Amino acid sequence: MNNFAFRRTTTVADTIALMEPTAANRVIAGGTNLVDLLKYVVTEADLLVDINGIESMRTVNQLDQGGVRIGALLTNAQTAYHPMIETKYPLLSKAILAGASAQIRNMATNGGNLLQRTRCYYFYDPNAPCNKRTPGSGCSAVNGYNRIHAILGHSEQCIAVFPSDMCVALAALDATVNVVGPQGNRTIPFKDFHRLPGDTPHLDNNLLHGELITGIDLPKQGFGDYYSYLKLRDRSSYSFALVAVASAFTIEDGLIRDARIALGGVAHKPWRIREAEQFLIDKIPDRKYVETAAQMVTDGAVAFAHNKFKIDLAQRAIVRNCLMALNPKTQRPGAKPSL
Ligand SMILES: Cc1cc2nc3c(=O)[nH]c(=O)nc-3n(C[C@H](O)[C@H](O)[C@H](O)COP(=O)(O)OP(=O)(O)OC[C@H]3O[C@@H](n4cnc5c(N)ncnc54)[C@H](O)[C@@H]3O)c2cc1C
Repeated sequence: MNNFAFRRTTTVADTIALMEPTAANRVIAGGTNLVDLLKYVVTEADLLVDINGIESMRTVNQLDQGGVRIGALLTNAQTAYHPMIETKYPLLSKAILAGASAQIRNMATNGGNLLQRTRCYYFYDPNAPCNKRTPGSGCSAVNGYNRIHAILGHSEQCIAVFPSDMCVALAALDATVNVVGPQGNRTIPFKDFHRLPGDTPHLDNNLLHGELITGIDLPKQGFGDYYSYLKLRDRSSYSFALVAVASAFTIEDGLIRDARIALGGVAHKPWRIREAEQFLIDKIPDRKYVETAAQMVTDGAVAFAHNKFKIDLAQRAIVRNCLMALNPKTQRPGAKPSL
């Protein structure tokens, strides 16, 4: 870890003024990812700005148009257990609670969750070439041990996956990210927030240096009746997803009227294919349609030496999770989807 200066702020404006001057001035929220990155010398800092004193970023507010704004500094635990989130956005609550451990969720913030870095082992090993850590140095994972890596949307330069659970649900819900920076305020639709690696794998997202995430807006439609989050991993807790699926539907008159399917653990960003969701519209909730949609979501998947199992796993996980969402009675512990 390099030596750095440390400041605490209580306002957004003061924070932006401190962050702007150099790319190595960074904010710290819960510190559950950033401190590891500093310790492993994956990241360096000239100045760390502790933003935990900004009370305005710690709230949950109802929006005029019917949605809800969750503050960037609210912890993952506070968000998941907030009555408004539990009742109106249970998919988000479930996804958050599938992540990390109770202790980490008590520290981790919503803003930090969106900006957490990949868990690719080579990224965390300063002796291994990694285009994400050191652009132009190469990708050790392509021909290395790539069991946890991407099957969709990867490039020759990077096959890392984005590890968040919370963001899979936010992608399914069509959330928007509120940002304040030196140039003013902007909102970023969730689908445009994270990036695919392409030839700039060092960029995880479209946030500009000096910009602060202040909150996340959830639209009015919370999919409280038909939803399910499934996370498949090597251990049943405290482990990142090999494949995760967020599914949400609205059903009227026995027909699917809105469908959302987002995947985690398979790409450099939460993965959604709108054509697959559209295919389900106005269909009856039937396994054969869900199986076709699952094929469409994973269409074009390309695996590497150690992660071929992920393609089949992703398709099966989509089918299982959509059937769970479409038949809420199956969400009893141990129950199996029966559609
Ligand atoms: C052992 C372990 C297991 C985990 N398992 C899971 C899991 O299964 N699923 C999962 O989803 N996550 C998991 N996590 C990741 C965890 O959820 C993240 O580390 C956490 O959400 C990051 O939030 P933080 O507030 O601690 O961020 P920090 O570590 O403080 O910051 C992370 C990054 O975000 C930036 N940042 C923070 N807040 C803002 C803001 N408001 N505006 C602009 N920039 C900001 C920081 O500068 C830094 O670059 C795990 C973490 C650990 C350590």
